[in-house]
Amino acid sequence: MASSTAKPLVVVVTGTSGAGKGTLEKILLVRMPELELAVSATTRELRPGEVNGREYWFITPEKFERLVEDGDFLEYVDLPWGARSGTLRSEIDRIQARGHVPLLDLETDGALRVQETIPGVVTVFVDAPTFEELERRLRERATESSGEIQVRLDLAHRQQTQKGLFNYAIVNDDVERAAAELIGIVRRELQTAGSMSRP
Ligand code: 5GP
Repeated sequence: MASSTAKPLVVVVTGTSGAGKGTLEKILLVRMPELELAVSATTRELRPGEVNGREYWFITPEKFERLVEDGDFLEYVDLPWGARSGTLRSEIDRIQARGHVPLLDLETDGALRVQETIPGVVTVFVDAPTFEELERRLRERATESSGEIQVRLDLAHRQQTQKGLFNYAIVNDDVERAAAELIGIVRRELQTAGSMSRP
């Protein structure tokens, strides 16, 4: 069993927008209750089905700016369609104080910043099987205007070139298979972190 460690594990799931990382994370959280999602703050609109405090803390741009100025974010991003999202340091502290492992869902630049600054981080890049499939999934979700979908697709092209920079890359070709692969990676990393912390 993983003991409380000098270098606690932090799991970051990143990847192309629309690759389905949210679905994989939901399965991961159910199957590994020792993990807990770090709820980011965002200035974007709440989508149907989302709950404030569950997917995100939905806050105003003014409040977001105050948090930036106060240094409350571990990292944050200004997304090309105008929204700002960031990881609150307090979320990581809260989750670790409960003896849980923080799970972060980040776009690639934020994931790289966390990978460079936090010891004990493991990063997993989730990709769609093909770019056509990614486009289909983004359009199916269709909560964004078509303009925003195009911006997300352009971003996804750039994000795919960053794939090799992360610790692991998995393809979400089949949700159950990809979830099993992700769970396997996190279990192995937890075991390693636990054994390294033992005297
Ligand atoms: P969405 O608006 O579709 O929920 O998320 C858009 C992108 O922002 C996703 O790739 C998601 O992983 C990323 N994201 C969500 N929260 C954060 C955050 O706190 N920091 C960073 N860097 N990216 C985030």
